[in-house]
Amino acid sequence: MANSTSRLCALYGGTFDPIHYGHLKPVEALAKQVALQHVTIMPNNVPPHRPQPLANSQQRKTMVELAISGNSLFKLDDRELQRETPSYTVETLEQLRAEIGTEQPLAFIVGQDSLLSLQRWHRWETLLTLCHLLVCQRPGYSLSMKTPEEQQWLDKHQTTSVEQLHSQPAGKIFLAQTPLYDISATAIRQRLEQHQPCDDLLPPAVAEFIRQHHLYC
Ligand code: ATP
Repeated sequence: MANSTSRLCALYGGTFDPIHYGHLKPVEALAKQVALQHVTIMPNNVPPHRPQPLANSQQRKTMVELAISGNSLFKLDDRELQRETPSYTVETLEQLRAEIGTEQPLAFIVGQDSLLSLQRWHRWETLLTLCHLLVCQRPGYSLSMKTPEEQQWLDKHQTTSVEQLHSQPAGKIFLAQTPLYDISATAIRQRLEQHQPCDDLLPPAVAEFIRQHHLYC
């Protein structure tokens, strides 16, 4: 078990266009499994070569605020939204490391789909020098989809020890057993465009905000 004085915090990056239960519920389960003190949601500024979010930065930020209101596990950090430049996770992590120092354990949360595309991220080899990776399961994605190189990298860094996540500052990959939520922001946007109900896919306050601002339709 993690010792009672360790304070493992995690970052959770993404577009959150909009934030939904597929983001929140697996992470709540993960937080219990590995004794996370906080999860900081960090909506990103999307690089120009990728499809741009339909909701603007302020709307995506507000939806995160509404989603986590009253839930003390989650915090919001809008530093990537403040930048005009694309968000590269590695640069944000370097900035955070400069703030918290090299010794404090730090984790970054991804879904299984993101783990499978991680080797396309900017300076991906540096990520594990800055943080641990905590991986949530996601329906439709299996780690058997990995290439042999990805498997080798995973074998080198994977741990099943929660204690290691708390005692080492970075460098480990933890594959969590999290509940499966077959929800994506893409599917929600499509449903809303077709005027189909989404209320069981998102927190009620987010659904209400979407309705009030006529988003995604
Ligand atoms: P989109 O459909 O617009 O691509 P998304 O629903 O995949 O969006 P993102 O904001 O891109 O959401 O994802 C942020 C993070 O949340 C990523 O690490 C992603 O893997 C994870 N994630 C999103 N949905 C789920 C889900 N249903 N289960 C587990 N992880 C998820």
